[in-house]
Amino acid sequence: MLAADGGTVQRTSVYNALRALADAGLVRVVQAGPGTTLYELSGSDHHHFLCRHCGEIADVPAGSEVPPLLNIDIPGARVESAQVVFRGICAGCLQLPL
Ligand SMILES: [Zn+2]
Repeated sequence: MLAADGGTVQRTSVYNALRALADAGLVRVVQAGPGTTLYELSGSDHHHFLCRHCGEIADVPAGSEVPPLLNIDIPGARVESAQVVFRGICAGCLQLPL
């Protein structure tokens, strides 16, 4: 259970609410890897960068062009969205002493 201001909320209730918001198109769900799911308000299209050292997730502008990898034709299907998660080490972590 999650506690806030002395009250409790079941974790499943939170996920059900997030799922409902995602189904309504108000929240975007980003699968950033095993055990890492990001829920964010729907807005402008962008990608994400995930630092494997500190776990920070940063927005990356998507730009106006569709990358060739995402310009895909799946016979019989209509692609409605795509997500790119870049992984590496962020600028801050690269400056840390080894
Ligand atoms: Zn980092």
